[in-house]
Amino acid sequence: MTDIERLRHSTAHVLATAILKIWPDAQFAAGPPVENGFYYDVELEHRISPDDFEKIEAEMKKEVKANHPFERVNLSRSDALSMAERGALGALGERPAPSKFKLDIIQNIPDGEEISIYRNGEFTDLCAGPHVMRTGNIGAFKLTHVASAYYKGDEKNPQLQRIYGTAFKNKTQMDEYFAMLEEAKKRDHRKLGKELEIFVIDDDVGPGLPLWLPRGGAIIEELEKLAKETEFAAGYQRVRSPHIAREVLYRKSGHLPYYAESMFPPMELHETGDRKPETGSDTAQSAIRDPQSAVSRYYLKAMNCPHHHKLFAAVPHSYRDLPLRFAEYGTCYRYEQSGELFGLMRVRSMQMNDAHLYMTPDQFETEFNAVNEMYLNYFKLFGIDKYLMRFSTHDPAKLGQKFVNEPELWKQTEEMTRNVLKRSGINYVEVPNEAAFYGPKIDVQVWSVIGREFTIATNQVDFAQPRSFDLVYKDRDNTEKTPLCIHRAPLGTHERFIGFLIEHYAGNFPLWLAPEQVRVLPIGDEPKLLDYSRAILKELRAHQVRAEIDESTDKINGKIQRAEQMKVHTMLVIGNRDLEASAISVRVHGKGNLGAKPRNEVIANLLKSIKERES
Ligand SMILES: [Zn+2]
Ligand SMILES: [Zn+2]
Repeated sequence: MTDIERLRHSTAHVLATAILKIWPDAQFAAGPPVENGFYYDVELEHRISPDDFEKIEAEMKKEVKANHPFERVNLSRSDALSMAERGALGALGERPAPSKFKLDIIQNIPDGEEISIYRNGEFTDLCAGPHVMRTGNIGAFKLTHVASAYYKGDEKNPQLQRIYGTAFKNKTQMDEYFAMLEEAKKRDHRKLGKELEIFVIDDDVGPGLPLWLPRGGAIIEELEKLAKETEFAAGYQRVRSPHIAREVLYRKSGHLPYYAESMFPPMELHETGDRKPETGSDTAQSAIRDPQSAVSRYYLKAMNCPHHHKLFAAVPHSYRDLPLRFAEYGTCYRYEQSGELFGLMRVRSMQMNDAHLYMTPDQFETEFNAVNEMYLNYFKLFGIDKYLMRFSTHDPAKLGQKFVNEPELWKQTEEMTRNVLKRSGINYVEVPNEAAFYGPKIDVQVWSVIGREFTIATNQVDFAQPRSFDLVYKDRDNTEKTPLCIHRAPLGTHERFIGFLIEHYAGNFPLWLAPEQVRVLPIGDEPKLLDYSRAILKELRAHQVRAEIDESTDKINGKIQRAEQMKVHTMLVIGNRDLEASAISVRVHGKGNLGAKPRNEVIANLLKSIKERES
């Protein structure tokens, strides 16, 4: 138990104390710490509602103020059982009814295990601990909500009330936590995504299949432009592949059967005529074939790798061609359980900033470093200060099940990756048993400004797939060798990355990324003024700036308000004085009025900011 968990669990005891002072016949079950707080399950005739919180918290405050010590006493099983029978566990003293849940818990404690109780003031509870020293150590606490839960999670058992709360070392920390929650609610990408018309999820299209509105499409285009420029400069080549493929491809790649649970079920197709027999497919599982019509199975692609491997194999390669870097914003489909779906963060269709790099072993370090550099440059561009690289390795006990059965190759590639990480001085943690099935991987976790954690990018080493696809290059000595492969996706998927960016920027995208970069707002509707405004719009669009004009008859304040609401980055307010001086009055979302400047200067500044992707 961490220090904060110990504090929060101790607060659960104080909560139970307070509830008993108000409702003496309350029966308590379990009260563990949970993420961000604690709960206690209680059986009670009175339905506790948030209206009761003030009263309960007042009792809790008394307990904290009294600064009772938490005292531990070890008991024999028979003493513990007798206390429970006398109703004295999870209680302020003996009661007519037994402490039935505590009784059950004791009966389930294995023989030989220590049984202990904890006391704070009048309250005694069955508990293994640990706790803080005294109730006065609880600096700040708050009850948050009530839910219902079956005892031991089994619906055959009685239904209990689960009272949730949280506690902190001091009030400042608690205030910060609740302020962060408020901010997180405001920034929630599902809420902003709707308000700012970025994406929708439509039930007829299907759960987990986001549709991108034009404003979302604009962000996607910008991210792809960024990726394409960056990758082009780094020597990547762009390829394209279809969204579906035959079963045999995924058998070769090992996605079937290793990854089958995350794939959509196959489509069955009756193919006739010139179709070649499917080598390597699982014929036993395929449907019955007749000579005229054979059934093939096609799968939606869950990953782009198998397609890229086929592209590598399509042309013979010598060591001189390597490294070869294939990039594609490939759309993949994964079957996530419907309970797991969450806005843009957990989806079933995703557009991935994917690439596969094929290299000789001695090129590995340079390539791997270059990929890591690319990650770091992106983080700088987006102002992501907090990130962690998680280096996931295999578990030798699970070779052949969770991990490809190549013990030597696992050792070698993990060692190589570890060395590169150490030498480059990047902050990383090593996590066993979480590698991809074909090799060690690095997940990059980032934290948004509101402290939410996202895994947005992965960088994986692969020694298995190039082998199963018989990928080879001709080495210096004229022998055929298998290349190493790196899978990488620094910008993750559009879905998750844009979800992250919405929350990171609170919808206030920098100019280069803003869905609507500029809105021209004429003051009034005089023809000369409108002509001038339209000419500005035309000039901006000619430079590929995402600009709109508001020619409605509304007052200028109404026009500004509407633009601010949609978080349009720059508003160009055009009045007669601007017209006469060939000027533009500039207003920036979140910054207010910046005053009038010559038209050429304003446009040049906008173009420069976009080109340089200023934050
Ligand atoms: Zn306890
Ligand atoms: Zn891949």
